[in-house]
Amino acid sequence: MSSGIPQPSGAPQQPGTASSAASTGQQSATVLVVEDEPTIATAIAQRLSAEGWRVEVARDGLSGVDAASRLRPDVVLLDVMLPGIDGLEVTRRIQAEHPTPILMLTARDDETDMLVGLGVGADDYMTKPFSMRELVARIKALLRRVDRAAQAAATTPADPPMTMGDVTVDRAQRRVYRGGDEVHLTPTEFELLVMLAGSPKTVLTRERLLAEVWDWADASGTRTVDSHIKALRRKLGPDLIRTVHGVGYAFEPPANQ
Ligand code: CA
Repeated sequence: MSSGIPQPSGAPQQPGTASSAASTGQQSATVLVVEDEPTIATAIAQRLSAEGWRVEVARDGLSGVDAASRLRPDVVLLDVMLPGIDGLEVTRRIQAEHPTPILMLTARDDETDMLVGLGVGADDYMTKPFSMRELVARIKALLRRVDRAAQAAATTPADPPMTMGDVTVDRAQRRVYRGGDEVHLTPTEFELLVMLAGSPKTVLTRERLLAEVWDWADASGTRTVDSHIKALRRKLGPDLIRTVHGVGYAFEPPANQ
């Protein structure tokens, strides 16, 4: 299709195949933007609408929670500093009602680290100011990740749970337990854990983790990897994932296994 040449009339057509619905998932996605600054909200909404997405804007935290409940968006783009309840509380309330991919907009890099450390439950973070091009790329990557996770859950129901010390990962159910209690991981944290655990005692570079888990290849995002590793350690204990300084991370099964 590169030069606008009409398709050969003999090309096989299979109308109504299931795969066409899956491949258009990104085009029909609904994005909820929760942002109180009108200029930014409008600019984001225009850009995302141009991608073919359905976009709704909420201007404060409570409206954001209501809109998420009503719309069940595919992605929530969420500013941290909002009037009323802030982005942290908005995330908690949205996630408590229905697990939803959240891309959080922060004012500074260290604010991102702090939020991840708190285990707020967003899947990705962007520091203002950001380019609209990068924003669109991040949202597309997040949508692909969620799509892939859903497909994996549907097609690999027989994967046995993995047990590592007091941590059990049930890949079929996409649930994680520590000492018998369920631990809530975001979809991204889950993917990262499964990726690392799938190659124990092997160093995976931050760039590779970024490419495979986040599905994008901009090296500036390695900070996102670091932040999510911190979140996994906070939730699952400090010893399962080893830092290999300057390179990446390695999964270390407990010695008694
Ligand atoms: Ca704000």
